[in-house]
Amino acid sequence: MQLLLEHEHSFINGTSYQTTNTFTVLNPANQNVVKVVSSVDEKGSQSALHGAQQALRQLRRTSAIQRAEVLKKWYALILSHEQALAELMVSEQGKPLHEAIGEVRYAASFVDWFAQEATRSYGEVIPAQDGKHQLMTIKEAVGVVLGVTPWNFPLAMITRKVAPAYAAGCSFILKPSEETPLSAIALAKLANQAGMEAGALQVLLTQEPAALIAKYCQHTAVRKLTFTGSTTVGRILLAQSAATVKRTSMELGGNAPFIVYKTANIKSAVSGLMTAKFRNNGQACVAANRVLVEQSCMVPFIEELTEATKRLRVGEGMDPATDLGPLITLKAKNKVMALVEAALGQGAKLHYKGEELGGLFMPPIILTDVLPEMDIARQEIFGPVVTVMSFVDEQQSVTLANNVEEGLAAYFYSQDVAQIHRVSRVLEYGMIGINEGMISNSATPFGGIKQSGLGREGAKQGLDEYLEVKYLSQKFD
Ligand code: NAD
Repeated sequence: MQLLLEHEHSFINGTSYQTTNTFTVLNPANQNVVKVVSSVDEKGSQSALHGAQQALRQLRRTSAIQRAEVLKKWYALILSHEQALAELMVSEQGKPLHEAIGEVRYAASFVDWFAQEATRSYGEVIPAQDGKHQLMTIKEAVGVVLGVTPWNFPLAMITRKVAPAYAAGCSFILKPSEETPLSAIALAKLANQAGMEAGALQVLLTQEPAALIAKYCQHTAVRKLTFTGSTTVGRILLAQSAATVKRTSMELGGNAPFIVYKTANIKSAVSGLMTAKFRNNGQACVAANRVLVEQSCMVPFIEELTEATKRLRVGEGMDPATDLGPLITLKAKNKVMALVEAALGQGAKLHYKGEELGGLFMPPIILTDVLPEMDIARQEIFGPVVTVMSFVDEQQSVTLANNVEEGLAAYFYSQDVAQIHRVSRVLEYGMIGINEGMISNSATPFGGIKQSGLGREGAKQGLDEYLEVKYLSQKFD
């Protein structure tokens, strides 16, 4: 257990790689230093690529069943370290402990899922046009994968990529967020204990990702880039990957509408919104960003929402009473506050604001009379702010919901069956929660359309992201 908590350096070729160039991981709840970690240097990044290429050659000789066995052991190790991993996550990310435990289980569920999917990467036999050919496809690992992940879900965003990559037989170079590197290293150590080949999962720490990632993007030996993060950085990485024509998967930002129709059960709509908005303190790509409420049920909805929001407790993640931890950085908090100030200046109304605790904590806020053109409705808020706007009919709700560049998750509450079918079909989003506010699941395809990204994670589709289809044509007489 202790070994797991001693993480200070990059993890390259199955061992710790130290340099003298350091940066500090801070606890967002109190700004205390959690750890001083070392940044990878040029020699380390070259060694990581070399090791990943070697591991790829080794992995090509393993069977899917062997890789599945390693994943099963990794899954068991993650779960047996649940408390330690969760506490580590609270210390570097700030989320409440019960949410951190939920994330450990969610992260582990991808490892379990892809241990099973590993054995199902079937090829095909294709009927030939004549009687003299055997036409087949087989699936092969894409190659060395580069993964870049964010801080908001420090474990799950990693296992959602590494588990399918390993299941497919790819080696992986991971650059986790500089805010939450410790969870990433802990995961890699457990993977190593589970028997993952040295070099199959390299974790490189740096506070200056741009130069490191640009170099890897230019390298032809890196065959795939998988990124989870902001749309702004996603665009840069897509452009950088163009020169070497890499496979890419992009899990980018969202701007989820949460629509409440007049037939909705208001209590359950509010309960769903509390999860969709306040989980991880609003710092989720699938967080409800705009709450659209049919005018005729606005009054009871706001009453119920206000009561539920008043019950939220802001505090340190290790306090069992905490619902909302701190925001990740001062920069993040200032951005949320600026969006709120700007909206108020443009005519939104401050309907409710919780108690201000200072530091990186932020009180939950409800804004009403929000308009679609306000910045707060057009950008990801990434904080505990509910923005409410009203609509008069279904057509207007859909127009408002679709009128953004993002297309990740959407939610709506209705008890009208015909309306449920109509609205599900016209919402331009990759994932839709119908009468529920929590849609994440390792067995289902997670991902967005429009500028929210490319590709899917989890589900059977998640494995294909790391596989190439090879076609074999054999002639016989
Ligand atoms: P971010 O884009 O700032 O950073 C993500 C990662 O990219 C980090 O590891 C960071 O170090 C790295 N990075 C930053 N600039 C880079 C550059 N120029 N070159 C290479 N790498 C660079 O995002 P964030 O603040 O860490 O995370 C929040 C964002 O992630 C939100 O937009 C959220 O919606 C998105 N997100 C999306 C999903 C999804 O599945 N669609 C899931 C979680 C988070």
